[in-house]
Amino acid sequence: MGAALITDPSLILGYLRDASNTEGHADGLLRPNNAQEVAAILRDCQAAGRPVTVTAQRTSTTGGPVPDGGWLLSTERLNRVRALGPDHAVAEGGVLLGELQREIEATGRFYPPDPTSKDECSLGGSIACNASGARTFCYGPTRPWVEAVELVLPTGELLTATRDTPIPASWPRLNWREPKVKTAAGLYPADNLLDLIIGSEGILGVITEATLWLTALPKRVFSILIPFPSAEAGLSFVMRHRRVGPLSPRLMEWFDSHSLDMVRARVPDLPADAQAALWCEQEATDEDADALMEAWLEALEESGAMMNAVIFADDPSSLERLRLFRHALPAAVNERVAHNGMPKVGTDFAVPDAALPEMMAAYAEVTLPHVLFGHIGDNHLHMNLFPRSPEELIAARAVWAGLFRKAISLGGTVSAEHGVGKLKRRFLAEMVGPEVLSSFVALKRHVDPAWILGRGTMLEIPESS
Ligand SMILES: Cc1cc2nc3c(=O)[nH]c(=O)nc-3n(C[C@H](O)[C@H](O)[C@H](O)COP(=O)(O)OP(=O)(O)OC[C@H]3O[C@@H](n4cnc5c(N)ncnc54)[C@H](O)[C@@H]3O)c2cc1C
Repeated sequence: MGAALITDPSLILGYLRDASNTEGHADGLLRPNNAQEVAAILRDCQAAGRPVTVTAQRTSTTGGPVPDGGWLLSTERLNRVRALGPDHAVAEGGVLLGELQREIEATGRFYPPDPTSKDECSLGGSIACNASGARTFCYGPTRPWVEAVELVLPTGELLTATRDTPIPASWPRLNWREPKVKTAAGLYPADNLLDLIIGSEGILGVITEATLWLTALPKRVFSILIPFPSAEAGLSFVMRHRRVGPLSPRLMEWFDSHSLDMVRARVPDLPADAQAALWCEQEATDEDADALMEAWLEALEESGAMMNAVIFADDPSSLERLRLFRHALPAAVNERVAHNGMPKVGTDFAVPDAALPEMMAAYAEVTLPHVLFGHIGDNHLHMNLFPRSPEELIAARAVWAGLFRKAISLGGTVSAEHGVGKLKRRFLAEMVGPEVLSSFVALKRHVDPAWILGRGTMLEIPESS
């Protein structure tokens, strides 16, 4: 196989858990150095019927890289940046996303996908999960920025997939439509192999290398933190300004009053009576920056925002301060979850634009301890509930299920960015229905006859495997 098999449990231990705190078990760990070694491992496992799970940086919040027996295939040694050009970057799957982005930006070019975890996660993991971030509001998720992947199928076949690569005629087709919202739930109903692989969460193949589209690094960016005296005032600003008018924010992020309390120490000048806040970024050129700034001021004055407390940032260090303020939230949430000693109960739903007020009203009815924050521009908010006892955990899960059904009834998705992994299979099944689920299973079975790759991720393991 080329790569050495590690079986020492003390060396494997660090690979068994992801950011959701889901823990698994594995008999062996392989760290291949190149695509040929990946291919040899998959051929061997397919022949032996041995499960193998791809693990990258394990920032998954859904148990995707957590093994349920068999071997682990770590992408950590696939860590070379192959080429940086004006229009493209080529890098191996295990490269850290944030490091790659910094290298690209040093050349004056830009790769926009920005999951909050970009400094901790891998490029291959972000493609496998079709990761999104705050800038997805303007630039879309990872999908449109990937031009090609080098891929090893579960049978060990090494190939390159672009949007011109047809899905082989013998493969079962997926005949469904994704909800018309930002979504990362289920196999993408693609007409080409590349789009099928993006977002497939490591169950249809291992991404060993990717070619990415690059665009121009924006000349100027300014950032605004806007406190509101009520959630209604903040929501009305979003509904009015996110898609039409003189403002063209590249991101719009929501903080409810509880999330403000959680990270207030980072921006002590935030008013104590703010009931909500928005963090927005606006791109500009030297020519339109002044006019855009004026348009923002006018819009804010009309909106009932707490004008004396609005924070503008346009130099690198203050821009970074506001980004860190936002990025501190998921970490603070994880700390509180760990402190409570209960599993994380968090939503990742998105709904269509028109349904946002109704979804916000449903969130507002939740009385258990929680925070509500995130990508409101895309109608995609994270509500994290903080149960403190087994009884509250049962109640929190019931709240989660109620919100899930609300989001689905409004035309939404169970996962807008984190994927299904092992934790949300049941809810994907409920979202897509039995017929669509059977088509996912038929495709998986065809591509991976011994069902070795990513067992238990997205789909239940069939009894015959
Ligand atoms: C604090 C925090 C913030 C986060 N913020 C965001 C966010 O803003 N947006 C977002 O979308 N996600 C976010 N995430 C989730 C997670 O970071 C992303 O899904 C990320 O892309 C996973 O990358 P990874 O390298 O950690 O992959 P892992 O967690 O190791 O694996 C994730 C899945 O991808 C598969 N996989 C990994 N590499 C490959 C490969 N090369 N080929 C095939 N399959 C592969 C694995 O089998 C697994 O199913 C966040 C997580 C944390 C902990």
